[in-house]
Amino acid sequence: MKEKTYRCGAVVLAAGSGKRMHSDLKKQFMLLKDKPVIYYSLQAFQNSFVDEIALVVSEEDIECCRKDIVQKFNFSKVKYITAGGKERYHSVSAGLKCLADCDYVFIHDGARPMITEDILDRAYACVKESDACVVGMPVKDTIKIADKNGYIAQTPDRSLVWTIQTPQVFSYSLIKEAYDRLAMEEERLKAQGINITDDAMVVETLLKHSVKLVEGSYENIKITTPEDLTIAASFL
Ligand code: C5P
Repeated sequence: MKEKTYRCGAVVLAAGSGKRMHSDLKKQFMLLKDKPVIYYSLQAFQNSFVDEIALVVSEEDIECCRKDIVQKFNFSKVKYITAGGKERYHSVSAGLKCLADCDYVFIHDGARPMITEDILDRAYACVKESDACVVGMPVKDTIKIADKNGYIAQTPDRSLVWTIQTPQVFSYSLIKEAYDRLAMEEERLKAQGINITDDAMVVETLLKHSVKLVEGSYENIKITTPEDLTIAASFL
């Protein structure tokens, strides 16, 4: 029997200010082997089964991204370039609004250039089973949870601890509902000290829906500080 085909979208996030890079040029536009960091994620989605891409950047970067990245490198699947918001979750929400006709959506940090076809294939297979999955890797180090005074409060069982990466992949209807609820409950969550740092957390917190973990790679790093650029260049 022929497998059903689904329409897949990607939200690629590049609207962060990248303060930890201590540079005037935002990290997503810095050069990595002669190409801007954001080029690599867009190229991975362009070469994949994904049908359309919403690129989320700061308002002031929209026109230069259109010309110097999307047109220059012929990213024909980038159908939308939209403005992000103050927090990452505001930017995700803006991207999701562009992709209303999709069955599944891949939400990816544009600051993770090492995304591969294998990772996309694994995540796609997983989301078709689970409706919600995130890419990550089991930790190699022992992890400690600290208390507010810098003392160890807990040592979680290492075999159960993962570091979380992107893409984070969801059925469109599920993630849209979670983000719509977040928009309504943002102030309440803030008042409770809940700091939303990824998409899985939105689904877990707002919908109480379980999220499956799927293997990414130890190379799928996020460019955050200057040494990450050197590490990514060595992987490439
Ligand atoms: O700040 P952080 O490194 O966690 O950002 C992860 C990704 O989310 C980056 O690709 C960044 O550009 C993006 N982002 C965004 N809008 C924000 C904050 C971060 O698109 N307001």
